[in-house]
Amino acid sequence: MVSVKNKLIENENFKFIGLGGSNEVGRSCHIIEFKGKTIMLDAGIHPAYRGMLSLPFYDLYDLSKVDVLLISHFHLDHVASLPYVLQKTNFKGRVIMTHPTKAIYRWLMRDFVKVTTIADEFLVRDDTSNLFTDDDLINSFDKIETIDYHSTIEISGIKITAYHAGHVLGAAMFQIDIGGINILFTGDYSRELDRHLNSAEIPNKKIDILIVESTFGTATQQPRKTREKKLTSLIHDTVKKGGRVLLPVFALGRAQEIMLILDEYWAQNNDELGFGKVPIYYASDLAKKCLNVFQTYINMMNDNIRAKFRDSKSNPFNFKHISYLKNLENFRDLGPSVMLASPGMLQSGVSREILEKWCPDFKNLVLITGYSVEGTMAKFLMMQPDTIPSYENPDVNITRKCRVEEITFAAHVDFLENLDFIEKINAKNIILVHGESTPMGRLKSALLSKFKHLKRTENEVKVYTPFNGVTVDIKFQRDKVATLVGTLFDEVTNKLSIETHNSSEVQEQDSDETEVETGIKVDGLLVNNTENFEIGLVAVDNIREFHSDLKTTIVKERQSLMVHCKKELIYWHINQMYNDIRILQDDENISHQSVRNEKVEKEKTVLKLEILNSLILTIEGNLATLEWSQSMLNDVLADSLMTILLSLDSMPISVKMTHKEHNHGDVKVEENNESLPIKEEELIENVKKMGKKEEDFIEKLTIVADLFKEQFADSFQLQLPTDLFDLDTSDIKGILNVGSHKAVIDFKTFKIEECSSNALKGRIEALLCICEDILCPII
Ligand SMILES: [Zn+2]
Repeated sequence: MVSVKNKLIENENFKFIGLGGSNEVGRSCHIIEFKGKTIMLDAGIHPAYRGMLSLPFYDLYDLSKVDVLLISHFHLDHVASLPYVLQKTNFKGRVIMTHPTKAIYRWLMRDFVKVTTIADEFLVRDDTSNLFTDDDLINSFDKIETIDYHSTIEISGIKITAYHAGHVLGAAMFQIDIGGINILFTGDYSRELDRHLNSAEIPNKKIDILIVESTFGTATQQPRKTREKKLTSLIHDTVKKGGRVLLPVFALGRAQEIMLILDEYWAQNNDELGFGKVPIYYASDLAKKCLNVFQTYINMMNDNIRAKFRDSKSNPFNFKHISYLKNLENFRDLGPSVMLASPGMLQSGVSREILEKWCPDFKNLVLITGYSVEGTMAKFLMMQPDTIPSYENPDVNITRKCRVEEITFAAHVDFLENLDFIEKINAKNIILVHGESTPMGRLKSALLSKFKHLKRTENEVKVYTPFNGVTVDIKFQRDKVATLVGTLFDEVTNKLSIETHNSSEVQEQDSDETEVETGIKVDGLLVNNTENFEIGLVAVDNIREFHSDLKTTIVKERQSLMVHCKKELIYWHINQMYNDIRILQDDENISHQSVRNEKVEKEKTVLKLEILNSLILTIEGNLATLEWSQSMLNDVLADSLMTILLSLDSMPISVKMTHKEHNHGDVKVEENNESLPIKEEELIENVKKMGKKEEDFIEKLTIVADLFKEQFADSFQLQLPTDLFDLDTSDIKGILNVGSHKAVIDFKTFKIEECSSNALKGRIEALLCICEDILCPII
C-alpha cells in the first residue's frame, strides 16, 4: 500500500458537552463527539438533590447517538443514574466499567434504591419520583461489559484503554483513541499511594485532550502521614475524654482505607483502646458483602496489601478491632466509641440518625473525611451551625454542640499533584470537570500562568471550564492522508518505479539531488472508513470490488434533436468550439473531406464523436443524439453543445451550406422547420426506421423497470412478451399489486391502463414523470 500525502488539510471538530459535573461536583456526565462517534463519560446523580432533580441534564442530548458509555468508578455521583439511562431513555450504546466497579455497583445500587425509596415515600409520597426500581437495576446489570486494567477494547473503531486511577477500588482512567486523536478522561483520581490502592498511572501515549477533575482547585493537602496522625490523635483525645466519634463515610472505598488506619492504630494502642474498651463500629448492611468484594479483588490492589494478604494468609480487611453493625437496632450506646456510618454526606440513613443523637453533646466529635458536596448536611456542618434541622421533621431544630473537624482522605489529587500530572500528560487541550466554580476557576488561572510561556506558539495550552449544557469546540487540522486501493495502487507504483528509475539515472550525474519529486496525478473517489478512520483512494471501477457496501449509481443522460444541416458543418462548429474531439465513427469521411466516400448512402451514415472525453454525439441522418454520464461538469458541457446544435440552422453559414441539399430522404421534415427537439412520435418513427429500436428500448426499459422495482420491490412485476423483439405486436406491461390494489401500466406508451386506487395512481404518475425526466425523450 502506498500512502499519499495530499495537500488537503482536514478540519476535524471535537466536541465536549457537559450534561452534569461541569462547574459543579455531582451528577458527573460528559459527552464527547469526534469523527462521527459519540462517547458518554459517567452517569451520576447529584447527592444534594432528589429524584429527577438529581439527574444530569439528559434532556439536552439525544442519548440514542451514544456509541459507548464509560463509567469511571462506583461512586454515586458517577454511576447512580445508569439504570435510569439504560431503562428510561433511548440510549442504545454499550456500557463499560472495570470488574470491581461492576461488582460493587451491584451492592451499592441495591442499597441506593432502598434508601431513596424509603426517603421518597416519606418526603414526597409519590412513587413516580423514584428514578428506577429494583427490576430496572437488575436489568441494567446484564447490559454492563467489563474491561481489565491495561487492556484495550475496540468499539466501532473507538479504542478504549483502562488505567489505574487510585481513588477507590476499581476506579479507572480511560484513554480513548478515535482516529489517531487521544483523549484521556481521569475520572476522580489520586496520585497518592495509600494503604491498599495503586496510584493513578500516566499512560504511555501522546494525549491531545485531557479531561481532568478539579475538585481541590488550587488547594494543597498536608502530607498523608500528618493527616493520619491528626486523625488518630483527634479520635484518641475525644474517646479519652469520654466522647463519641462519628465518621460519616461512603459505605465502600475510602471507608476501608480509614478502617485499615484505625485497626492498625488500635493494635498499637491495644492496652488503652483494645479489648472492647473503645469499640469501633462499621454500620452498614453492605459490610459482609464488601468484605467479599474486597477479598476477591485484592489482586487489583497495591503491592503492600497483596504482600500482607500473602504473608498472613488472612484477609487484611477482616479487621480485629472493628465490629459490623447491620443497623442501629442492636447498637448499645454505652460509652465512648467510634462509629463509621454511611452515607458520607449525612443526607439521611444511619449516619444522619447518629449525628442527630450525638450532636448536642460537646464531648462528641464529627470527623468528616470525604469530599462534601455543596448543599449536603456534611457541607452545612462545616460552617459550625448552632442548630441542625431534624431529618424526620425539618421544622424541628437540634442543638449542635459537638466538635466538627475535617481531615480529608478523599483520594482526589490536590493542586500540586494535579499540576504535576497535567504537566506530565502534556496535552494541548485541557477540559476541567468535577469542581465547584471557584476552585475550578482558580485552577484554570494557575494553569494558564504556568503555561504562559507557550502562548501564541504552536504548543499553546488551552484550558476550558465549560458550564453544563455548553459545548466546547476544539478544531484539529491534520494533513489528509489517503491509502491507494486497487488498480490505482498499480498505476501509481508503475509510475513511481519509472520515475525512481529516471531519477536514479539523474543521481548518477548529480549526486546532490536526492529528493524525488513525484507529483503523480490520479483520479479516484475518497472513501472514508468509519471503522478504522482510514481514507482510501479508489478508482471508480474498483468501488464495487472493494466497497461492496457502497451503492454506486451512474446516471446516463441522452438527448436527441433534429438537425437540418450537413454533418460537415456540425463537425466544423464543434471542432471550432472544443478542439478536443475523437472520431469514433465517420462513414462519410467528413473529417477528411479530401477523400470523401461519396458512395455511402447518406441517410444511413453515422458520425460519432467523443467530445472532451466525456460527451458522445451521434449523428445519424438528421437525428443528433448526445449522451453523457451525469455530473455537474458534463451537464454544463452538454448544455453548451445542445445550444450550438440548436442554433446551427440560424447561422448564416449554415443556411448557405444546407440550402443545396434540403431533402433528407425518408425523414419527413417541413422545409422551413426550425431546429427544435422533435416530438416523441416523430422520434419513435425515426428510430424505428434506423433499425436500432429494440436495443435502445430494452436499455431504457431496464432502467425504468429498475426504478419501479426500487419503489415497489416485489409488488412490481414486469410482464414481457415471449418474443421480446417483436415490439410492434407484443405487449409490455408493468403489473403492480399493492395490498388489495392493482395497477397495470403499458410500458410501451408509459400510460396507466388501469388502477384501482387514486393514491397509488398518483404515485405511479409521479414515478413516470421521473422516468420521463431521466430518459427524455424516450423512444
Ligand atoms: Zn469519586
